[in-house]
Amino acid sequence: MYQDVVTFIQSVFSTEEFIPLHEPKFIGNEKKYLNECIDSTFVSSVGKFVDQFEEMIASYTGAKYAVATSNGTSALHISLLLANVQEGDEVITQALTFVATCNAISYCNAIPVFVDVDKDTMGLSPDALRVFLNENTVIENRQCINRSTGKVIKACVPMHTFGHPCRIDEVVEICNEFHITVVEDAAESLGSFYKGRHTGTYGELGAISFNGNKIITSGGGGCIITNNESLALKAKHITTTAKVPHKWAYSHDMVGYNYRMPNLNAALLVAQLEGLGTFLKSKAELANLYNDFFQDSTLDFIVAPKHSVSNYWLNAVVLSDKKQRDDFLTCTNNNGVMTRPIWTLMNKLNMFENAQCGDLSHSEWLEDRVVNIPSSVRV
Ligand SMILES: *Cc1c(COP(=O)(O)O)cnc(C)c1O
Repeated sequence: MYQDVVTFIQSVFSTEEFIPLHEPKFIGNEKKYLNECIDSTFVSSVGKFVDQFEEMIASYTGAKYAVATSNGTSALHISLLLANVQEGDEVITQALTFVATCNAISYCNAIPVFVDVDKDTMGLSPDALRVFLNENTVIENRQCINRSTGKVIKACVPMHTFGHPCRIDEVVEICNEFHITVVEDAAESLGSFYKGRHTGTYGELGAISFNGNKIITSGGGGCIITNNESLALKAKHITTTAKVPHKWAYSHDMVGYNYRMPNLNAALLVAQLEGLGTFLKSKAELANLYNDFFQDSTLDFIVAPKHSVSNYWLNAVVLSDKKQRDDFLTCTNNNGVMTRPIWTLMNKLNMFENAQCGDLSHSEWLEDRVVNIPSSVRV
């Protein structure tokens, strides 16, 4: 039934063999830098590639500071701690996200509260956020108190779904009004800009992931970006065991984390970052091909929202209902074209089933209909 889609995707990727959703590409200086790193013996938690990567990512995103971490989840965890999220606090996020967003909130012993997304961006909806805050909270002593639980809402974590920016400027404006700190989950959106500014730089802190399935990868890795010097210094300190600098003494001034990115991974990542421009161009071309193809189809291809440049990390289509979605998943996967449904809503997972939720009608609508289609860089 969706044979035309299968044929088209096979022609786009020039193969009738299995087509994955997203595979990494190593076509630049990866092996060169990895060899250099091994020859230097600095393969572990310190080394020039870590420093070089942090400088490059800060410069690319326009953030003043970047701190490399072991993965995107640890970057989110530390960002939330630096946003002063403590045990028993509440953190607002979207129900439609990857589980890592909520895991990071849980690592702080905080409680997620779920708000709806916009249908076009699939990211946190400023309108839904405002409705939720107006209906459920009061401001006391410059803190946002959830009236039904009596707890403080400390932070808000909007996420840029599949690389498409959400209405982040409005989210930040509302959160400022309500004394809520914004931590952006920009795990999927390296290379995505909203109103000319890189995603992850609107919030007080932003977290990016370099997992194997992301637009560029260090095997595993992440980073925190921020314009706040004191937060950047704290982020570096707490992710590197909170060691007080000294020539030989082991002194640590708090319980820190070993969330460092090894130099070996950073070496790979520096080479990947050099290729980002090429990757983004290839992904924009692919999105254009998909967009043209799906023009006269019953499937809707999701395009970058207004005012944004998307990295088109994972392309997605919207089916007309759940039954059509399941038929599409069956047909494509049975024919060697890998496709995947969007995530199960977080409030449906047993860990978060008791979480407070706003109206989630857009999230539920998208949950039943959105499917990711092959999106690898074609070079
Ligand atoms: C990938 C991802 C993360 C986590 O990154 P890891 O590097 O895998 O820990 C967090 N949030 C979202 C939305 C992601 O897609």
